[in-house]
Amino acid sequence: MKGVTVIKHPLVQHNLTRLRDKRTGPQEFRRVLGEVAALMLYESTRSFAVEHVSVKTPLAPARGWQLRREVVLVPVLRAGLGMLDSILQLIPHARVGFIGLKREETTLRAMFYHKSLPPDLSQFEVILIDPMLATGGSAVAAMDLLSELGAKRVRLVNLVAAPEGIRRVRQHYTRLPIFTAAIDQKLNERGYILPGLGDAGDRLFGV
Ligand code: URA
Repeated sequence: MKGVTVIKHPLVQHNLTRLRDKRTGPQEFRRVLGEVAALMLYESTRSFAVEHVSVKTPLAPARGWQLRREVVLVPVLRAGLGMLDSILQLIPHARVGFIGLKREETTLRAMFYHKSLPPDLSQFEVILIDPMLATGGSAVAAMDLLSELGAKRVRLVNLVAAPEGIRRVRQHYTRLPIFTAAIDQKLNERGYILPGLGDAGDRLFGV
C-alpha cells in the first residue's frame, strides 16, 4: 500500500511475534514493546531533514549534520505510552505531547478525554505513536487535532495495522507516512484486529 512501510527487520518480526503470543505477560510485554519501538523509530525517522554543521574535534574541524527541526512525540493514551520511553532514550531532546482517546463501545467512534500539545506544531517533526491502527478512528481524530495545530510533518507509527484502518486514514490523509510491523487480516465485530495481539493497553498494564 502506498505510503505504508512494513518494517520486516528480523528483530522487529521476532519481537512482534512475542507480543502476539498470549503467554507473554505484562512485564515482558512492556519490555519487548519498548525494544520494538526503538527499532521502528530507527526506520521511521530515516527521512528526517538534516542540515550541515561544523564542529571542531580535539584535532581538526569536521563537517557534520544535525536535525533541522525539533521533534514532538505524541503517544496516544494508553497504549502509546508503551512505546514512549524507549523512543525518548533515542531522541532525548524531543518534546512530548499527549492525546487521550477512547473508543465509544457501541459506535466505535473516537472521543478525546485528554489533549496536551504545543500550541503551534508547524515547525516540528511530529511522530504520532499508537501500537494499534484498528478502525482508524483514533488516528484520524488525532491527525485532525495535529493539523489544527499546524502540523505539516507527521509520521504515524503503529505496531500492527488493519487494512480497514489504513484505508480510513488514507481517505483523510492521503500522504501521511505510516510505519508498521504488520498489516493484519481484518477487524472483528468489536473493532479488534485479527489476529492482532488483543487489547494493547490491557496487555501492557495488566488491566
Ligand atoms: N486496540 C487494541 O488495543 N487492539 C486492537 O486489536 C484494536 C484496538
